[in-house]
Amino acid sequence: MKIAAHTLGCKLNYAETSNIVRQFVEDGAVVVDYHSPADLYIINTCTVTAIAEKKCRTIIRQARRQNGNAIIAVVGCFAQNEAQRIAQIEGVNIILGNHEKQRLKAIIESKEWQVAKDQVLIASGTEPSSFDLSYSSGDRTRTFFKIQDGCNYFCTYCAIPFARGRSRSATIAETVAMAREIAATGAREVVLTGVNTGTFGAAHGETFFELIKQLDTIPEILRYRISSIEPNLITDEIIDYVAQSRAFLPHFHIPLQAGSDKVLRLMHRRYDTSLYARKLERIKTVMPHACIAADIIAGFNGEGQSEFDEACQFVESIPISYLHIFTYSERPNTAALRMEGKVPMEERRERSRVLHTLSQRKKEIFYNQHMGQTRPVLWESNNKEGMMAGFTDNYIRLQQPYDAEKVNQITPCRITQDIITQDNEE
Ligand code: SF4
Repeated sequence: MKIAAHTLGCKLNYAETSNIVRQFVEDGAVVVDYHSPADLYIINTCTVTAIAEKKCRTIIRQARRQNGNAIIAVVGCFAQNEAQRIAQIEGVNIILGNHEKQRLKAIIESKEWQVAKDQVLIASGTEPSSFDLSYSSGDRTRTFFKIQDGCNYFCTYCAIPFARGRSRSATIAETVAMAREIAATGAREVVLTGVNTGTFGAAHGETFFELIKQLDTIPEILRYRISSIEPNLITDEIIDYVAQSRAFLPHFHIPLQAGSDKVLRLMHRRYDTSLYARKLERIKTVMPHACIAADIIAGFNGEGQSEFDEACQFVESIPISYLHIFTYSERPNTAALRMEGKVPMEERRERSRVLHTLSQRKKEIFYNQHMGQTRPVLWESNNKEGMMAGFTDNYIRLQQPYDAEKVNQITPCRITQDIITQDNEE
């Protein structure tokens, strides 16, 4: 059986797609490129923005064009929240929500599927409540390791708690055991991913801080990155630990979402701008070279011009290295749908453009601060027109002529303008 998979959205989805695919591969299936003919196409979807939904539709059609007889399975967040809408798209055979998606292989082999073959099989009604540790494979250099799922925060703009259920995770012992398995694959760098990573362990009376200390003891893993952590959950003890740890890198992704206290309140975020600024100050005090990325939403309800100007000034004033910008789009089921103060779409897009320019400026400042410094780079295996690339510990992407000896190795490298590459957006 030939299978092809396409992942939309976050790193968590990448880890989960790998887990689904691995089940088929262990049974003899061969993975092919998504743009080749396959017997089964798996599309792991996202519901964070309306654009992700649009992409999902395009990708389903691409698969159908490759092989008119293939099984097309659409799984994940969009499938969880909008199963009936997906069922309207021609060519889809199986729709599995987040609770059911790891059962794809079992379903295809089951009577359930045999019976439903001439109809669309939908299994997406259940609120996701189980938890599977999973990790992405395919690139030995870097692995996305899902350590947590779900969220209890219900920010007013966000559909993720509806798509992924409440916060949950495995125990520290189970998570560390899986990390050892990842280490045995030869992966050098592990990115800890989750929906609300900082809430790891709550159900077991354990903490994310305890977890990172345990993970740091696995000698074969040379690098860890924390993919994202909420500002109210990145404690001083986590920051101080990372600063002196063996393998945790000086690289943070701390969602900001809005740079105005009024808008943060409307979003039901659990911090204000002064707490956010304090966390960044602490990071930069103990790790002056740290890279700090932030998510920000342009044009949320109630964001007038003065709140937007305030947000731009706030971002200017704090040591953010660059932004991930999302143009606000209404998501199903969210409290924001009932709120007033909607910003016209053209204005949202204009603010998004302003934020992109601001982000580019912040990134240049960050790069310039490190020009001439020597930092460790983990070199990746891709040979692109005779060049190889890799990230420094603080997430600056560098390139050099391809050298097979350096693949999956960490070597010191002097940062100069001509070896920085720009393809490092997450
Ligand atoms: S913290 Fe807020 S934005 Fe993040 S997943 Fe939870 S509800 Fe969504």
